[in-house]
Amino acid sequence: MIPGPTNVPDSVMNAMIAPTINHRSEEFHDLYRRVQSRSQEVFRTKNEIVVLSGSGTAGVDAAVGSVLKPGDVAVVPSFGEFSSRLGESASYTGATVIAPQSPLGTAPSLEQVDIAMRDAGRVKALCVVFNETSTGVTWRKLKDLKEIASKYGALLVVDAISVLGGESLPVDELGIDICIAGSQKCLAAPPGLVILSFSESAKDAMQGVKPRTQYFDIPKYFKFAEHAETPQTPALPLMFALDEALRLVIEEGLEHRIKRHTICAEAFYDGFEAIGLKAYVSSVEFRSHTVIGIVYPPGIDDKKFRTTLDERFDVLVAGGFGKLKGSMFRVGSMGMISPSLVTLTLSGIAQSLKLSGYDCDASKALDAAWKKLGHLD
Ligand code: PLP
Repeated sequence: MIPGPTNVPDSVMNAMIAPTINHRSEEFHDLYRRVQSRSQEVFRTKNEIVVLSGSGTAGVDAAVGSVLKPGDVAVVPSFGEFSSRLGESASYTGATVIAPQSPLGTAPSLEQVDIAMRDAGRVKALCVVFNETSTGVTWRKLKDLKEIASKYGALLVVDAISVLGGESLPVDELGIDICIAGSQKCLAAPPGLVILSFSESAKDAMQGVKPRTQYFDIPKYFKFAEHAETPQTPALPLMFALDEALRLVIEEGLEHRIKRHTICAEAFYDGFEAIGLKAYVSSVEFRSHTVIGIVYPPGIDDKKFRTTLDERFDVLVAGGFGKLKGSMFRVGSMGMISPSLVTLTLSGIAQSLKLSGYDCDASKALDAAWKKLGHLD
């Protein structure tokens, strides 16, 4: 129950034991085309998809590195660890990065972003994290952010690594130029692949940008894609796994999957509240449906609590990140999340807190959660 990597269905794990194939064969071409079209369906886009062998950060580096160069300016709002890393990745390109900030647990205001864009002069890209995994904030303002980006003639680059597949994110409708998703989060595949979509405007913006490394030469991926291949050897077992994971998403139906994530998240928040715990993100509007951040009640030791939860209840949750270490814990509510996982997690957490000296009644958490979970068909 950590915010990625998440639990992986058996059929996805089993897909990886298929014999290794030639990545320059018709068999691979079929796999490539299937992964491409299934990804397009899940991203809700007609844009070209690139699957990179590498973790989420590889995708972030590839995305910003494909459109930014020394002398360019990027606005990268910062409101937690991963949005600040997005800014760092943009800095590696040699571009100037302007990072309007907001306190942890919130997101910058649209006005702040607009002012930063206006004051920056010619901005090549507005780069945002949609779901800030370190705090549990989802910035549900992509439509407005796109409007701001368009007003200043900038691309909109979205890190959706910890949310795509778990929250509505229609890439074409929102006009997202580059969207980045990780295999190991809401898609419930193993870690090691990152999926990116590129709009025609993003492709145009790549002209004149010299790729900084051979591996991240995105235009080269487009060229090889014409023959349904990748420039370098892809991580074949992970491609088999992703193909199956995407098939499962489509089989379930994206709408249902998003509803399942929403309801399970609401059940978590209500369950925790029923035993007196506070969500780290105070505004409901910004609360993530994939990463549930909860503040520890006074006197609870983070390490001791999470060890008890793991060893006695078989439930693994994450601690706080950076400055938030010790003051909160984070539950990943992603991918295969279900009513049984929600209730198992809530009851384990309530009992572990009780063992750590916090007076609470697990049945209250479960009752509150079931009021929401009952809406899931
Ligand atoms: N961006 C976000 C929003 C993330 O949640 C993460 C990882 O949790 C990353 C980027 C980095 O991904 P990775 O650790 O797979 O490189």
